[in-house]
Amino acid sequence: MTTVTKEQIFDALKNVDSGTGGLDITARGWIQDVVIKDGHVAFALEVPPNLGPKLEPVRAQAEKAVYDLPGVISATVVLTAEKKAPEAPKSKGGSGRDRLALPGVKSVIAVASGKGGVGKSTTATNLAVALAKLGKKVALFDADIFGPSMPRMLGLAGKKPHSDGTKVHPLENHGVKVMSIGFMVAEDSPVVWRGPMVMGALEQMLKDVEWGEIDVMVVDMPPGTGDTQLTMSQRVPLAGVVIVSTPQDIALLDARKGLNMFRKVEVPILGMIENMSHYICPSCGHREDIFSSGGAEKTAHELDTDFLGGIPLDLKIRETSDAGTPIVSADPDSPHAKAYIEIAQKIAAKLDVGPSKAAPNISIGG
Ligand code: ADP
Repeated sequence: MTTVTKEQIFDALKNVDSGTGGLDITARGWIQDVVIKDGHVAFALEVPPNLGPKLEPVRAQAEKAVYDLPGVISATVVLTAEKKAPEAPKSKGGSGRDRLALPGVKSVIAVASGKGGVGKSTTATNLAVALAKLGKKVALFDADIFGPSMPRMLGLAGKKPHSDGTKVHPLENHGVKVMSIGFMVAEDSPVVWRGPMVMGALEQMLKDVEWGEIDVMVVDMPPGTGDTQLTMSQRVPLAGVVIVSTPQDIALLDARKGLNMFRKVEVPILGMIENMSHYICPSCGHREDIFSSGGAEKTAHELDTDFLGGIPLDLKIRETSDAGTPIVSADPDSPHAKAYIEIAQKIAAKLDVGPSKAAPNISIGG
């Protein structure tokens, strides 16, 4: 297979006019952070902040110029501002920065965790499917740009969303519309991007998608409490955030950090979920609290937020997730699915969106 080189990329980009007085974009010095991995190319166009929005056609041309090179499977170009904007004044009621407009989307909620590996993506996916089962129109946005797992978890790995040249049409499975950087790059070759590029790419993805009418958009946040999470929570109009934690103390400490970060930027905390909370014996149904569950509930109360529920540790949750059919879809009557659906009901009630009485065929038994 032909592999593309940086030189070839720069040569191709010399044909892209900067739209600002005759110079091409390489001569302007706008090309930054070129990443080439297995035929996937990504870079930033670092442009003067005042020109940003006007340069969208230039960005698109640059993307096409690289995409047309032999050996290129995908090209992702994001616009970033040349200089960091001066420190924003302390946000007043969360309105200190411009929010992205997401027309047609009624509520956006984030699913976040203080650290990786606690089951945040699994939870986000099952909650999205559960909200769809409750009759909501649901979108799932994979902002976990460093480890996008939504294509696999929703059974859409290897598929590509269709683009009509101006808008991207999201793929849909299990009643959920989904967009993920994972459709552009392979899951096992995560893109190594600098902070500003991450935000640029996420915004681009959010804006380019034709979401249609959506009651709830679930955002699977990147794990942790870094700049990306902070910027996301300031730029995306979040109705609230759900924090996922495992019962262990360490994870709970991280969960506290996460919660505090969202509080600082005045995003409402919808509550905490304890994942891998307890173990239900598959043969006798006996419940075992292997990690001394209840930590998240206690922490939630201490931090004056709601405890939304616990999800058991169960091989089936992992297997169904790996197989692309989340348990809420694969086995909606299982106790695990019911645990997710109950949490989804609590979240929906807090949001109060969508067809309110459209959950006819779900009954939550005790
Ligand atoms: P994160 O998004 O926090 O990094 P993931 O959702 O990718 O975490 O989950 C990490 C691993 O744990 C995955 O293999 C997933 O299938 C598994 N997992 C998540 N929740 C559960 C659960 N309740 N029971 C069993 N396995 C789980």
